[in-house]
Amino acid sequence: MKMESLKELFVEELQDLYSAETQITKALPKMAKAATSPALKDAFESHLEETREQIKRLDQIFESLGENSKGKTCEGMKGLLKEGDELMKEDADPEVMDAGLIAAAQRVEHYEMAGYGTVRTYAELLGEDDAVSLLETTLKEEKAADSKLSKVANKINVQANKAA
Ligand code: FE
Ligand code: ZN
Ligand code: FE
Repeated sequence: MKMESLKELFVEELQDLYSAETQITKALPKMAKAATSPALKDAFESHLEETREQIKRLDQIFESLGENSKGKTCEGMKGLLKEGDELMKEDADPEVMDAGLIAAAQRVEHYEMAGYGTVRTYAELLGEDDAVSLLETTLKEEKAADSKLSKVANKINVQANKAA
């Protein structure tokens, strides 16, 4: 179908994010289980709770737009999470595995930041003010999740570097 407006692209991008977030809620519990560092497990578990709220924010936006949340599969997220799955199948020293899990998770956060930055900007242009603030809230959470992972990585990468 021909896309004729920024509004239609906005809805498609939101559906892509909805698919991405749904996939992430299935991946984070596996990543928390695969992690050894309590700080890393905690980071994954608390971001899972945030992700559930992010899905609710998207639901709110779809509802106010009168659009369906489903209709797209985020192939980019599928690929990123597949890489994470492959990592988790490897036999690795716990610290090295944790470092790899952080690398995978930060790719996910950056991908989400790109997506939310875009839809936040579209919402501004379209005058969808409620959507702007909901999307801004989520964008801030993604940035905070990424910073938290960087902090955990500061310790874990050093430990991984010392691993036998
Ligand atoms: Fe998210
Ligand atoms: Zn996508
Ligand atoms: Fe996230």
